Amino acid sequence: MLSTMQEAAPLISQLIEHAALNHADTEIVSRTVEGGLHRYHYRDACRRSKQLANALRHLQVKTGDRVATLAWNGYRHYELYFAVSGMGAIVHTLNPRLFPEQLTWIINHAHDSVLFFDSTFAPLVEKLAPSLPSVKLYVAMTDKAHLPPVKLPNLLCYEDLLEAERDDYVWPRFPDTTPSSLCYTSGTTGDPKGVLYTHRSTIYHCYAAIAPEALNISVTSTVLPVVPMFHVNAWAVPYLASAAGAKLVFPGAALDGASVYDLTEREGVTISLGVPTIWLGLLAHMEKHGLKFSTLKETVVGGAACPASIIEKFLTNYGVETVHAWGMTETSPIGTISRLKAKHASLSKAEQLAIRAKQGRPVFGIELKIIDDAGNPLPRDGKAFGDLMVRGPWVVERYYGEEKSALVDGWFHTGDVATIDPDGYMQITDRSKDVIKSGGEWISSIELENIAVSHPAVAEAAVIGVAHPKWDERPLLLVVLKKDATATKQEILSTYEGKIAKWMLPDDVVFVAELPHTATGKLQKRTLRESWARHYLR
Ligand code: AMP
Repeated sequence: MLSTMQEAAPLISQLIEHAALNHADTEIVSRTVEGGLHRYHYRDACRRSKQLANALRHLQVKTGDRVATLAWNGYRHYELYFAVSGMGAIVHTLNPRLFPEQLTWIINHAHDSVLFFDSTFAPLVEKLAPSLPSVKLYVAMTDKAHLPPVKLPNLLCYEDLLEAERDDYVWPRFPDTTPSSLCYTSGTTGDPKGVLYTHRSTIYHCYAAIAPEALNISVTSTVLPVVPMFHVNAWAVPYLASAAGAKLVFPGAALDGASVYDLTEREGVTISLGVPTIWLGLLAHMEKHGLKFSTLKETVVGGAACPASIIEKFLTNYGVETVHAWGMTETSPIGTISRLKAKHASLSKAEQLAIRAKQGRPVFGIELKIIDDAGNPLPRDGKAFGDLMVRGPWVVERYYGEEKSALVDGWFHTGDVATIDPDGYMQITDRSKDVIKSGGEWISSIELENIAVSHPAVAEAAVIGVAHPKWDERPLLLVVLKKDATATKQEILSTYEGKIAKWMLPDDVVFVAELPHTATGKLQKRTLRESWARHYLR
């Protein structure tokens, strides 16, 4: 039977059209790499995206072509998101923190044909260019006055390109299953893998992620995505803000505590998003200078486990609610969000904190389950932990360039180990490869790390499983102390008293100057395990 409804399938271009029509004078503010703040409005962003789409058309960019970016969060990067996807091509955001060899591998694997870059990355691009046969054009994302002095074949200037074009581009219509953007996972094991999003997956994700129950971005929000646009599309914030008509504030390359605080206050930011290390930097800056927030209401923390101490500090000292979220490149990325239910209002602060510290409940559209080694589903009792499986309309089915499905019985195997409680809250105990297996029992490295960082002298902590003659593996705690802070092993270990079973206590504490991180800011535990492999065998 025929339905009576329109077959409307929104495309990414409609997001910016919507913003330009209905929120024409809402601001987009960017800290630029050239220096200073740039301000304009959704109407200008849409007009310039159309000029850019016209330019790409004249440069022979076709449907399905991969257009790469090496850029910070800023208005030109925003325009690329809409111009490239809007015309039917694929915007491929590259993570500049990867090693040059990894970047070369990824660009060649994706077969990118054009590379847009911020001037900051000019020396990097110059170094990569000789090994990038597929890249036919390079575009410096700046104006003529700031063109970096680089030697690149076919180098173009972004502002010159736009200046030469009209803004009368008509966004093409095509099936919403058309690919729109490409992100590679950071590849801590093996080669990086590409996730190719579609207009449909992006729009579905946008509807779910924007809701009050999820990221809560609305027309009254001023949003600061500290999470980079090269890390799962800044958690989709450019799309969500455009759909909501929210004011957007892009931090550029300045992600330190002082700069993030300055921008938050200056622009009246109400919600900001980023990985835990960003907030640790911000909190340290605020404590040192005795600062307060005047407009910030929420910070969304994800990408790595958010220690309860961050959540507590934001709430108690600054009145800011921390919303813990979990996701992956493979889930676009929003999977779960930790917001309290109405029935939790009467709980004590400590009980509420324990819920907020969980990774949260799935947003509608995402389904989760945990399974044991034999693939059997485990109970949702908040205690049993197993491999976390996910499925939904914005979850990967196969990796870019691979024919084989990445699914097991229709579910994506996340590689995370988690519990799910009867209220639907999921809590990650570990990456499966990071779980510490002591005498047949599993110990959560994340739990031990979170407790360690609640000690006032600890800046960062990593707990790894290290080979042990009697117990197979025992936890080893590696600690970076805050600048000028001191603490003894015993003082650090006393933090665990009453919080965990005695047998879970790390057998040793080692103070280190720094810990290694991946290009997306996660602890590089494999490197640590290799370096400390013989610690308990000596
Ligand atoms: P990526 O694809 O780089 O975003 O990495 C995804 C992985 O980051 C997940 O599979 C988790 O292991 C980790 N992750 C993301 N969010 C969280 C979180 N809130 N708590 C713990 N781990 C997280």
